[in-house]
Amino acid sequence: MAYTIDEIVDLLNLEDFREVYLEADRIRKENVGDIVHIRALLEFSNYCKRRCKYCGLNCTNKSVKRYRMSPEEIISTTYEAAVNGYKTIVLQSGEDNYYTPKILGEIVKSIKKLNMDITLCCGELDYDSYAYLKECGADRYLLKHETAQNELYEYLHPCGTLQERIQCLKIIKKLGYETGGGFMVGLPNQTTKTIAMDLMLLKEIGCDMAGIGTFISHPNTLLKDCEHGSTEMTKRAVALARIMMPSINLPATTSLGVINDKEKVDIFSCGANVIMQKITPNEYKALYEIYPSNLAETNIRLQRIKLENQIKELNRIPL
Ligand code: SAH
Repeated sequence: MAYTIDEIVDLLNLEDFREVYLEADRIRKENVGDIVHIRALLEFSNYCKRRCKYCGLNCTNKSVKRYRMSPEEIISTTYEAAVNGYKTIVLQSGEDNYYTPKILGEIVKSIKKLNMDITLCCGELDYDSYAYLKECGADRYLLKHETAQNELYEYLHPCGTLQERIQCLKIIKKLGYETGGGFMVGLPNQTTKTIAMDLMLLKEIGCDMAGIGTFISHPNTLLKDCEHGSTEMTKRAVALARIMMPSINLPATTSLGVINDKEKVDIFSCGANVIMQKITPNEYKALYEIYPSNLAETNIRLQRIKLENQIKELNRIPL
């Protein structure tokens, strides 16, 4: 469906969105079916050289203890996920130069031997690094554009520009990665027009997946006094993403679950078909605090069983 910006704004502002949710759910079923893809998420380093104003990992936050997982630890944790049925590993970190493309590439090659799909989410890299990691076997790359509004982007990101971010996404797409974009809903000074622009940008880039998450205010950031974003508006954005891009992969992002655990379930009737499960070892998990959340203990096997059951209860098929 090709909407104009104004049409998207009108839809986002609807008093009663129920019909749009139903339409999104129908389009989801028709185009990507009832499968819910479960991705294991491993947060392997919380070091970051950037100063993104919303993120608890920004390098000016001195109150967070920093950690790095060794390649061996990353591979053995991923192995445990593989034997417990996970088919994709998402390796996420701050922008941490310690992991050179060479080191990351070796990790990717070892994981490929486990017959797993690999998604990388390690921030902005240069062309050669993205190309090298693709050659090593990485299948997908996640890099959210965060917000499509130029002034807001620059206010939030003292270390980069929206143009650079988009350029990275174009390179990722061109190199043949399954390309994941996305943005946050509820950022300070964001309007429904901004969200409409965000959705348009995902389409323009040709994203294969999109993480649309609610902004959550972190007490150790410059945005500590801002309000959390609206989960309802986040779900509306997800539903419209499904209608505009029928075959895209849309995760029920973890930030939705943080605010209201019920929402994480509801999101599956709004167009979502993917869920990420954190498998970061307990000793590191709480330290990877991009935003505050209530974390359950990691138990890779039991978490998997519980999640599969929850998905089946929704008459969907876990994969
Ligand atoms: N360094 C990587 C990973 C960033 S963390 C990268 O640049 O891609 C992954 C995502 O968490 C970010 O893309 C952002 O959308 C989200 N995030 C960070 N802080 C957040 C907050 N306070 N509220 C909601 N989402 C946040």
